[in-house]
Amino acid sequence: MRLFFKKTRIIFLIGLTLILSCTPAEEPAGKDDRLAVIATIFPLYDFARNVGGDKVAVSMLLPPGSDVHHYELKPNDIIRVSKADIFLFTSFELEQWAYKIINAAAEKTNMLAVETGQGAFLLPLPESPEQDPGYSAAGQANDPDHASKYDPHIWLDAANAQKMIDNIAAAFILRDSKNSEVYRENAERYKRQLTELDEQYRTQLSACKTKTVLHAGHWAFAYLANRYHLHYRSAYNSSADAEPSPQQILSLMEQVRAQKLRYIYYEDLVAPKLAATIASETGVELLKLNNGHDVGKKDFQAGETYLSLMEKNLINLKKGMQCR
Ligand SMILES: [Zn+2]
Repeated sequence: MRLFFKKTRIIFLIGLTLILSCTPAEEPAGKDDRLAVIATIFPLYDFARNVGGDKVAVSMLLPPGSDVHHYELKPNDIIRVSKADIFLFTSFELEQWAYKIINAAAEKTNMLAVETGQGAFLLPLPESPEQDPGYSAAGQANDPDHASKYDPHIWLDAANAQKMIDNIAAAFILRDSKNSEVYRENAERYKRQLTELDEQYRTQLSACKTKTVLHAGHWAFAYLANRYHLHYRSAYNSSADAEPSPQQILSLMEQVRAQKLRYIYYEDLVAPKLAATIASETGVELLKLNNGHDVGKKDFQAGETYLSLMEKNLINLKKGMQCR
């Protein structure tokens, strides 16, 4: 755990890092007595809704469809966060700008900032573009000082998702102990649903014609691939701000042909132009994979959840991998 700010107090509690301001705790200034929670991205927002139930009012900081990898803070973001009781972010690997928010909010509120990914299992990013055509390193190319060695898409590993839920529940209990039983029960119930889905993934992806998942999007599904022993390749770097090289595209097309793939995958964050090009050049069909952090406005308003998105991913993985 890195400590950056003198004015913040760091508390370690059952593996959870909580960052509190120096101001003593006081009742939230809201009209109702629900905890006001603000979460950076969709998975955290949805986990918080499930753990908090009707005891919390959760909002999402980044608008639906935002690119969290290159998000630029707006002045209003800090104001919104400083009005919340709890601020949930994934990790300093993903939301480096969280430091800025925490520092600013800690000056004047008793907002509790929670690194929900604390204690999560981490996968290193691929070591070099030569070793892996799907090489991506979040922020590495543009900002070597802030380069992360680890893949930030931790919620796509089911065990990590459970860890994050535990961290969120611990924070809610710390801030609102009178409802601790509710938070504990909600978290356990929700984690059981995740466990069931995890088992479905294991069973349904165990007998398939191919293990290869070729993704014409950014490097986001390594945790999922690692968990279910899939062979994952992606086209773009972390936020698709750099076009893949012609060699990378050719290499992807070679893999499609060599492995006789019938489907490749695309995502919302990256415009599916490359996916469409590869598909038309190689005659494959396209299937969507949801990474969780770029949920668009339409899906958000339609009431998609982390579980519903992961269920859709399983359907498309089974189809693309030609599973029994
Ligand atoms: Zn991403």
